[in-house]
Amino acid sequence: MRVVVDFDVCESNGVCVQTVPEVFDLGDDDLLDVLQPSPPEELEGKLREAAGRCPKQAITLVDDPTGEER
Ligand code: SF4
Repeated sequence: MRVVVDFDVCESNGVCVQTVPEVFDLGDDDLLDVLQPSPPEELEGKLREAAGRCPKQAITLVDDPTGEER
C-alpha cells in the first residue's frame, strides 16, 4: 500500500496528522510531510479513516502488491 497526497489541494490543516501521526506530520514550515509513503498494512484502517476525514479529499491509498517493504 502506498499513500499519495495531492499537494495541489492539501491545505495542511493537520486533520490527517491527528488521525495517523505515524504517517503524517506537519513540519516546521507547517506543510504536510508524509513520513511513511509505504506504511505497514496494520495502519490501513486508520489511513482509510484519515482519507475519509480529509476535507480536501487529498489522500489516496494505492494498492501496491509489488511494492517492497521499507
Ligand atoms: S487532512 Fe487532507 S488537507 Fe488536511 S493536511 Fe491531511 S491531506 Fe492535507
